[in-house]
Amino acid sequence: MVDRHVAPGRAELAEPALRARSILVIEDEPQIRRAIRNALQGVAERVLEAGAGSEGIDLAAAERPELVVLDLGLPDVAGLDVCLEIRRWANMPIVVLSARHAEHEKVLLLNAGADDYVTKPFSPRELAARVRAQLRRGLAATPAESTVTAGDLTIDLARRSVKRAGRPIHLTPIEWDILRTLVGQAGRTLTHQQIFDAVWRRQFGNPQQYLRVYITTLRRKIEVDPTHPQLIITEPGVGYRIELPH
Ligand code: CA
Repeated sequence: MVDRHVAPGRAELAEPALRARSILVIEDEPQIRRAIRNALQGVAERVLEAGAGSEGIDLAAAERPELVVLDLGLPDVAGLDVCLEIRRWANMPIVVLSARHAEHEKVLLLNAGADDYVTKPFSPRELAARVRAQLRRGLAATPAESTVTAGDLTIDLARRSVKRAGRPIHLTPIEWDILRTLVGQAGRTLTHQQIFDAVWRRQFGNPQQYLRVYITTLRRKIEVDPTHPQLIITEPGVGYRIELPH
């Protein structure tokens, strides 16, 4: 397995695969646009800018950027509609900028096909890291490796096995399906509904309640310290994300 660990800073910038050809920023406030452009300087060769939703949709269609950073507070079109429109014909990652305390909106956006969100006010470093994570995820989309590791935990997707330091961990079918769903989108926050749909398909029920129970048992089995989970991260009011060290 290739060692994908990169030191922060210059070494990371030097990794050519993580540099996008172009990224589109849809944000109406010029100052924030400038801040985003600066934050993404090492991440993209070109940063395209749109000051309104309709302009952003047009640019996304014309230029086919590798990633879109989308602000939700736009003057003309709701961010949700911009996201839905772009998703009708493109699958590049969409990272949403949202206001604090807008959990419901975040859930709607992730369900509408956004890949991640960053809460305003954001740190440039955090935004760049989230964008890089999405670009990296895009590159890793072909599951050539069926085994993922996190510390001494090994998850073999093909054999449906989980081991810690070589010792097998028994998961129930539902726990396994949840884990596989999260690992398949590692680094990405999945909403309760998205995980529920992937695991239980058409069953009715309250996804959040179902998941809380199973995530607790899953953490007990795979986390080193289930009270301080390092792998399965809770996004309050939104869903869960698995973080695998690179
Ligand atoms: Ca705005």
